[in-house]
Amino acid sequence: MQRLEESKISGPGGGKVLYVPPMEPWGARFFAAVFRRVGYDARALAEDAATMALGLKHTGGGECVPCPATAGALLAAMERDGVDPDRVIFFMPTACGPCRFGQYAKLDRLIFAKKGWDGVQIMSPSAENAYEGMDQGTRILLYHALMAADVMRKFVHRVRPYEKRKGDVDALIERQTRLLEDAFAAGDKRRVADLIRATADALADLPKYRDRRPLIGVVGEIYVRCDPFLNNDLCRRIEELGGEAWLAPIGEWFFYTNHLRRLLNRERERGPAAILERARIWLETELFYSRVEKKYLRLAGKILADRHEHPIDQVLEAGMRYLPWQFEGEAILTLGRAVLFVKLDGARAIVNASPMFCMPGTITTSIFPRLERELGVPIISNFYDGSGNPNQSLVPVMHYATEPRRTEAAPA
Ligand code: SF4
Repeated sequence: MQRLEESKISGPGGGKVLYVPPMEPWGARFFAAVFRRVGYDARALAEDAATMALGLKHTGGGECVPCPATAGALLAAMERDGVDPDRVIFFMPTACGPCRFGQYAKLDRLIFAKKGWDGVQIMSPSAENAYEGMDQGTRILLYHALMAADVMRKFVHRVRPYEKRKGDVDALIERQTRLLEDAFAAGDKRRVADLIRATADALADLPKYRDRRPLIGVVGEIYVRCDPFLNNDLCRRIEELGGEAWLAPIGEWFFYTNHLRRLLNRERERGPAAILERARIWLETELFYSRVEKKYLRLAGKILADRHEHPIDQVLEAGMRYLPWQFEGEAILTLGRAVLFVKLDGARAIVNASPMFCMPGTITTSIFPRLERELGVPIISNFYDGSGNPNQSLVPVMHYATEPRRTEAAPA
């Protein structure tokens, strides 16, 4: 069903300014590039203390933190760029379910109304229908952008802890990211593939230490775990303390929403049409989405050979020991992925990153002490709001994790 806020992306954007929230450094930039290809003047938003303060000023104070973070980044950019609100579109996906994400676009609409910016449109595709409001070509390219973002992030986290010259990895990745933005803006998937392969080759050639660092699995709410501003650069902090971070990818949510559609269909629908629909979702996932994911990981080659993700049904199965799958949302993914990080990937500790006031984050934080006992590794649940120094809690755990037993190999 088309939501009130939803704008269909079909045809050219007519030069309208489309702002993409800064959830994750690579995803926001690649998404903006894809939208530029279909005629939008698309820009990835940036965050800092000032944009956060602006967001807090325009919200009530009790919202989970990605809400003021995204609103503040948009308001600051609009004021800075001086764009006519009638020419602005805000990209803000939505979702149904037990948490508040579905309310963000509605609250944004109220903020715009208060500022007299009624002309701002919100492009709000939904997880409910796996973002099917968009035209097929754009959806496919956005999916490639998402996979490329996941791979670039994995590259950084896999290699940066071992670089001999500080800054080598960040500089190389930034150069390649700019080239990838151009390739996405041109809709050139072959060039994207070549660039991912070239990035892997260049990373392999960098001088690196051959030591082994303890692996730290990072799970939690998707926005905060991926956003270095809100999580106080969590993965870099893990590296500074002697570890290597493996962050659950954004693609996890995509595979989850697809899988959930099949589960819900099986539970609620009967008859041949329902069977056909389940088969369609399964085929789409296996023949397209999973294949593209595998292709990107293949392009990444040896560097990410031991950083592939586990199938989503395995993540859910691990999480279902603690929550039923019918309890939709991120909590089950957070719990399930944490189990797999420890049991299958050899993680020495887990960090559960949640925004302040996050509902799934509160639930997982209450369940993690049980996992900690069962899995025998420390689990740190941090709540972030872009202020203070929550990552200080990592210090004693990293001290323990960097002691003798060492299980991870440096990348080739
Ligand atoms: S998952 Fe947490 S932070 Fe995200 S919308 Fe739901 S309650 Fe808010």
